[in-house]
Amino acid sequence: MNCHYTFYFILVNNIKKLYDYEVIMKNLSIEKVVDKVGQVVELYGWVDTKRDHKKIVFIDLRDRTGTVQVVGGEDFKALSEEDVVYIKGLVKSRPDKMINAKIKTGSVEIEAKELKILNKTKTLPIPVNSDGHDIDEEVRLKYRYLDLRRPRMYKNLALRSKFIDLIRQYLFKKEFLEIETPILSETTPEGARDFIVPSRFQPGKFYALPQSPQQYKQLLMVGGIEKYFQIARCFRDEDPRSDRAYGEFTQLDVEMSFVEREDVMNLIEGMMIEVYEKLNIPIKQKPFPVFTYSEAIKKFGADKFDLRTADEKAKNIQAFAWVVDFPFFEKTPEGGWTFTHNPFSAPKPEFMKDLLEKKNIGNILTTQYDLVCNGFEVGGGSIRNHTPEGLKSVFEIMGLAEDEINLKFGHMIEALGYGAPPHGGIAPGIDRLLTCITGETSIREVIAMPMTSSGRTAIMKAPSTVKEDKLKELGISVRSSGETKSVLTESVFEKIKNLLDQKKIEYKLMEHKAVFTSEDAASVRKTELKLGAKALIMKADKKPIMIVVPGDKKVDTSLFKKTYQIKDLEMAKPDEVKTVTGVEIGAVPPFGNLFKIPLYFDKTIVDNETVFFNAGSHSKSISMKGLDLEKATKPIVGSFSK
Ligand code: ASP
Repeated sequence: MNCHYTFYFILVNNIKKLYDYEVIMKNLSIEKVVDKVGQVVELYGWVDTKRDHKKIVFIDLRDRTGTVQVVGGEDFKALSEEDVVYIKGLVKSRPDKMINAKIKTGSVEIEAKELKILNKTKTLPIPVNSDGHDIDEEVRLKYRYLDLRRPRMYKNLALRSKFIDLIRQYLFKKEFLEIETPILSETTPEGARDFIVPSRFQPGKFYALPQSPQQYKQLLMVGGIEKYFQIARCFRDEDPRSDRAYGEFTQLDVEMSFVEREDVMNLIEGMMIEVYEKLNIPIKQKPFPVFTYSEAIKKFGADKFDLRTADEKAKNIQAFAWVVDFPFFEKTPEGGWTFTHNPFSAPKPEFMKDLLEKKNIGNILTTQYDLVCNGFEVGGGSIRNHTPEGLKSVFEIMGLAEDEINLKFGHMIEALGYGAPPHGGIAPGIDRLLTCITGETSIREVIAMPMTSSGRTAIMKAPSTVKEDKLKELGISVRSSGETKSVLTESVFEKIKNLLDQKKIEYKLMEHKAVFTSEDAASVRKTELKLGAKALIMKADKKPIMIVVPGDKKVDTSLFKKTYQIKDLEMAKPDEVKTVTGVEIGAVPPFGNLFKIPLYFDKTIVDNETVFFNAGSHSKSISMKGLDLEKATKPIVGSFSK
């Protein structure tokens, strides 16, 4: 090769390298495109929205960091919202008057050079580009993996991750060790029911999931660890409540040796202040105000309270306070004594004598401290009884017999006898704190995969039945097999029952073999076909509505369209019915109001003395007066059956 050629080759190769290396930004997150004007970038994400302007097609491409407008050609026509794509394109500034100040990348757009569809999507059962608040929660949780695509949900989870990171940083700085404690364990009293797990090695025996790591963390203190923390999952089988996470929750579990009440309170207060400052979240009052239990009751009528003014609430300021000096014991309905907060707590030092002598019980104050924020109890803890006598005395006051104490707490009493250091701890609830910070209305908005309020796991269908051979292996036989239907189905039924009970409407419930058509239903109910209320999910101009006609009739669609000025009316597909109502076709009850969709009744339904319908289940029917059904569901009534 002569010299000229060599030079030429080197030049070309270098230009190529320069181009590859500097101009193409590989796998860039969307929020970063604003700094890459004039460069070719490679982006990955989802089609958030699409606007087809014939020759050019605009999409907003979304990844976890944001969205950006992409301008594409005819090949973009094939895209649907939520397709997963790769796009190579040139980042261009937008002319001043086209700048979209509402989004982070509003000053630029991408001129697409290459498009690859990495995965085509089916139609989504729920929209994911809204905030999601208006979608039925059961449905959101069933499709949580889609629900999490909402920027709001990503933001909450990112905040949660940062929050826990900052907590760890603070505690490591203070020389704490992060230590895990067992999940399969023995029952420990925190005032709720245990979840229990059968043992296969020892049939007839059970583990309990921990209501908290309380005993283990105290045993770590006996073990000389001195400073422990854990981001701990706790399990409590409490009755589902809409404002709680059912089943499991996460707490920052802390325990320290050689401390007094104020040391623990100061540590946690210092942590909250540092973490909140780093997250730019304003706190109303520092240091946190401290109220005794009796002051709090006098002043607020409760031991949790909201110190914020309306204006501070609007600004989402966090108002912390401590509550201390709770009574240790309270009377049981049977006239005995039980603990108010935690049986492992020590009394305040001045009451130790009373505790040991079991005197003056109603007046003994505990070392318990509760942390309150924005009206919620967000954590609690105490200094513990570190002598065997103190702990034993608590259980004796509670009326436990010697052998019962030994059986349940013998290990603790024994451990405290081997030189246990004085110790105490606390456990702030992570989920609740994050709910307060985000201003979300439900704790489930800050948990990735929470259970539904009726106790079903997100996406998967636990609790579920177990095959007979597995039960046999565990030595378990189930007394009444109960219902094997999903909780989703149950919950629609429950919702109907609750609504009718609330409105004091009379109804009859029938259980029968599963039926899937109006004809089958009428025959198992032994009624005329026309008395059945057939609830149809239809799409009126693409929006779901419910139309209810008698079992022997059909919807006169042209009359319906004319009456209600609807252009397009079609039956919803089975999976759409499921999405809207949470139940299968054939089990849909005429309660459009429960599914928050427009509801239309043919007049003949209301005129019937009695109507029958499947109550959210193929094997459950309800009968009631036609007029009462109208009262319960408030439909638009017209004449459109044929
Ligand atoms: N074990 C307590 C709880 O989970 C907290 C504590 O006292 O540390 O509520």
